Parts: sequence; structure tokens; C-alpha cells
Amino acid sequence: MHDRHTQVMRELGRRADDIRAWRRGIHHYPELAFDEHKTSALVAQLLEQWGYEVHRGLAATGVVGVLRRGTGPRRLGLRADMDALPIQELVGRPYGSCRPGLMHACGHDGHTAMLLGAAHFLAEQGEFDGTLHLIFQPGEEGAGGAKRMMDEGLFERFPCDSIFAMHNAPLHRQGELQFREGPTMASADYATVTLHGVGGHGGMPHLATDPLVAAAALVTALQTVVSRNCDPQIASTVTVATLHAGDSNIVIPNQAVMQLSVRALDQAQRDLMVRRVEELAMAQARSFGVRAEIEWRQGYPVLVNWPEPTRLAYQSALARFGAERCVPQTPAVTASEDFAFMLEKVPGAYFFIGNGDAPGSCVVHHPGYDFNDDNLVIGAAMWVGLAEDFLVRDTQAQG
Ligand SMILES: [Zn+2]
Ligand SMILES: [Zn+2]
Repeated sequence: MHDRHTQVMRELGRRADDIRAWRRGIHHYPELAFDEHKTSALVAQLLEQWGYEVHRGLAATGVVGVLRRGTGPRRLGLRADMDALPIQELVGRPYGSCRPGLMHACGHDGHTAMLLGAAHFLAEQGEFDGTLHLIFQPGEEGAGGAKRMMDEGLFERFPCDSIFAMHNAPLHRQGELQFREGPTMASADYATVTLHGVGGHGGMPHLATDPLVAAAALVTALQTVVSRNCDPQIASTVTVATLHAGDSNIVIPNQAVMQLSVRALDQAQRDLMVRRVEELAMAQARSFGVRAEIEWRQGYPVLVNWPEPTRLAYQSALARFGAERCVPQTPAVTASEDFAFMLEKVPGAYFFIGNGDAPGSCVVHHPGYDFNDDNLVIGAAMWVGLAEDFLVRDTQAQG
């Protein structure tokens, strides 16, 4: 095992310049959800060049690369996301975004490059028996590209016995591999609440029905969903992020509109929170004589890592990188991730690689953020190791 890992690291080390060039090339030309034409063309062209059977156009710009070796029946899915964000990057990097207002601020450029690095190695020197499905997904940032790929037949066309994905973790030690069984990322739902009242003269409130005062009371009431209704053992948040009403200090407005997000690390709690938000909005509105209208937009479900695949990924990392660099049960995160949809259908795990904690490092979605290139070889080696462990060759059968 140790010899094999040393060999993999050495070989990937030789390709480090290539992997970094792909990462920086993708970073230089960021593309938003379902518009990843250049990125997905690069991915497809490289995979084809290395002998993968390449399928384009799943969820517009998604790509699946298939590589079969031996006669093993097992099928492994490894997924990377490819999309960027509508953020203006801080200037100063030679490979910085050339597209104003767009940037790779979540490290998906790095995720794509790590999986490409592994893909190249596995095609040339991979020791495995079975089928590899490399899934390059568009539109992770709010657009639900994972779901759309599934709706377009991802797992019917490319069945997987297990699937894995890796995300960088800013402000954590560079190269640290973090795993977690069970609920790991939160569900997210978004509501727009409109309170309809009757506007009027600021000096004659008795002739109006003020939606603004009702809205203020509702913002406070909504704080009780987490503090009074939710199980304190399960992380959850309700955030009222916008509140708009009126535009003059002498006029009572007709309506007040607020936008909120609701997150939970458990499906039952998620359902309860949605119900409580509705009940509070309706009842508060009634008590103030205004009318509430709620529009929901469902975000991603709770991301739940399956125990068995999580253990396999952890053991795979542990055997290669040592206990010093592997965390078996890292805390859950209250951001959300559309790989959750894939994990609802197929056993697997989502894990993290520390992006570095040097002073001045930025969180994802920050204009100063950058993927840490020191992780490219480590991440690629993690994928190679996991693929060779999951699709392990039966050495006895081969004599
Ligand atoms: Zn993101
Ligand atoms: Zn991301």
C-alpha cells in the first residue's frame, strides 16, 4: 500500500504543472451555471484524449467520462463541480478572472482540476477492476445542476454503486482530509413573505392598516422558531435577510416584503420549520389586520453521508496520508450543497480538503478567495486511492 501511494504521489507530482495549468486556465475564464461551455469542452477534450468514453450535454454543459478496466462488476462515481459565481474578483493574480463580475470563488476550478489529474493518472496507470464514472457537473451554485443531471438520466445511463465528491474547506489546515458520517450539510429553503395592508397618511394611522409594524413583529416572532420549536441538538437557522416597506416618512405603506432563508440538518426539522414560519406569518398578519402571502422556493435537501462509504473513504485516506492529516468526524456545516440530491439516490459520501489557514485566507464566496494549488496533487491522489480501493483488483484471481 505504502509503495503504491508513494508511486502515485511521485507520478502525480510529475504532472503537477499540467494540473495547475488546468486549474488556473479554468480560474482565468469563469463561467456561471449551465454556461460552462469552455470549461466542459476542456474537460471533454482531455478525457477523450486519455481514452475515456465521453458523454456531453447532460444538464446542458455536464460531462461524464467512462473508463472500464477488467471484468469487475463494480461501478464508482466521482463528481466534481465546474461553475463559478457572479462576484467581482479582487485584482492581483496573473491568472485572475478575465470576465468582469465573474469569478471562481468557491474553488470549483480546483475540484475540476483535481479530478482531471486523477482521471489522467487512472487512464494511464490506474490499477483497478470495474467501471469509473467521472461526473463533471454544471450549476452547483443555487442552480441544482446535480438534480438536473439526475432528471436527465444520470444514474440510469451511468449506474453507480457508490458516489463521492470533495469540496475545499477554507480556514482549515491545508491538505487536511475531513470526513463525517450522517447529516453534514444543511437543507435550505427560501421564502418571500408579503404583508398586504392599507396605506395612508402618517398622521392618521387609525385610517390605515400598517403592514410595516406587523412585519417588525413578525421578524421578532420568527426568532422563536429556532429557539422554541427546534430540537436544540439539531443545527438550524432562520434568517430574515431583507425587509422592504415604504419610501417616505409621512406615508404608511401598502405592503411590506421580507425574504428569509430556513436551514436545517434534519428533514423532519426542516418540515417543522417551514410549517412554523407559515403559521407565524399567517397568525401575526391576522392579529394586525393585514394579509400574509408566502412564496417558497425549495433549495437543496439535507446532505446525509452514508456510513459505509464514508468509512471506506476515511480508511482510504488514512492508509495513505496518515492520522495526522485525516479527521474521521468533522463538524457539520450549515451551508448547503446539491450533491445532497445524488446522495438521496446513491450511497456515498461528501468530504472536505482543508484549503489552508494562513493569515489573510478568505472564505468561499469572498472576492479574495482562491483555491490552494498545493492541494491539487493531494486531492488527485485521494481520488486515485479511493478508486483503487473501491474498484480493487482481485490479485489472487490474477495469479
Ligand atoms: Zn459555493
Ligand atoms: Zn462550492
